Amino acid sequence: MDVTIEPLSCGTLTAGRSMFEAGADDTPRSLPVPAWLIRHGDDIVLLDCGMHHDLVGAGPAREVVELFFGLEVTSDDLVASRLGEAGVDPDEVGIVILSHLHFDHVGGLAQLPNARVIVQADEWAAGFDADLAAANTFNPSDFDLGHDVVTVGGEHDVFDDGRIVCIPTPGHTPGHQSLRVRLSDREVVLCADCAYFGETLDGGPLPPIGHDHEAQAASLIRLRAMRAAGTTLVPGHDAAVMASLPARLD
Ligand SMILES: [Zn+2]
Repeated sequence: MDVTIEPLSCGTLTAGRSMFEAGADDTPRSLPVPAWLIRHGDDIVLLDCGMHHDLVGAGPAREVVELFFGLEVTSDDLVASRLGEAGVDPDEVGIVILSHLHFDHVGGLAQLPNARVIVQADEWAAGFDADLAAANTFNPSDFDLGHDVVTVGGEHDVFDDGRIVCIPTPGHTPGHQSLRVRLSDREVVLCADCAYFGETLDGGPLPPIGHDHEAQAASLIRLRAMRAAGTTLVPGHDAAVMASLPARLD
């Protein structure tokens, strides 16, 4: 059984560094927005799915994002376009694992009508709790679209073969999760927003925003322990790391 990972480039968000790293100055930093195409034999899985198509071009949705970020997203950056480039029909995507419910991770769900969504139960509940949704800037119109949703609590082995395993890494949001993928000869964890950057994994500052900093710090300790045991950690929004990745990890 071959399992491979292909990073999909789904746009860029830019803001002053202080938005992403507590105590930093306001020089701009650009964050790539990736989605991750994972092929498990003939099964097509995504981890996260980029931004909503309404953010392409002018309009009220884009204006809200641009209150906080410089936004680069073209029609080519939408998940359906990137899947097409990879030879995958969006209708073929059977599973979308959501790391969490922020707009740059879930907006593409609107283009994936047949996907079953796998998300931590705490995250999904927060998405529909008025106070937690507001505090975490969740927008139910991004994800409350009638998909078949599987909510999980804790580790979840997606195919019961140890190859693709959701691992809870709460803190950035209430039910944030990362994804452990066993390739042919090594293990990779796609950290998502538990660690924006390589520096975060090396003990750098957390963002000033976030649901629970202590929980996020504890999640990072667990990820670092995995790295010490040989696992490759891929941070969620690091331009240099993204540029260094091959088109396909196998
Ligand atoms: Zn996030």
